[in-house]
Amino acid sequence: MASTTDSDCIPREHTDGEPCGPCERRQAHAEGEHAFCGDECGAPQVEQSITYRVESRIGGDEWQTLGVRFHYAEQAKAERRLAEKRERLPHMQHRLIRRITTTIEEVL
Ligand SMILES: [Zn+2]
Ligand SMILES: [Zn+2]
Repeated sequence: MASTTDSDCIPREHTDGEPCGPCERRQAHAEGEHAFCGDECGAPQVEQSITYRVESRIGGDEWQTLGVRFHYAEQAKAERRLAEKRERLPHMQHRLIRRITTTIEEVL
């Protein structure tokens, strides 16, 4: 998987115990951190996004998002919205949904 080699090491940049750029990248790569790797790395690039929404229902009906389909990036905001709904629509049940979307991109 690793295709960077020791040969790109720049010894004079190893100062105060800090590795040079290529060595630091190689070290990060070995530890599974590929943010600084180029296409040659081959490790899948993983991106994760999390959103929250409030769903409501009456009795045993299906859960649904009321009104505009709001998605919140922050859990605190969604929780405030949930509290609001519980106060304004006490005859309904409300719940908080967290949606985690993972995008994996890899060189084939
Ligand atoms: Zn080095
Ligand atoms: Zn890598």
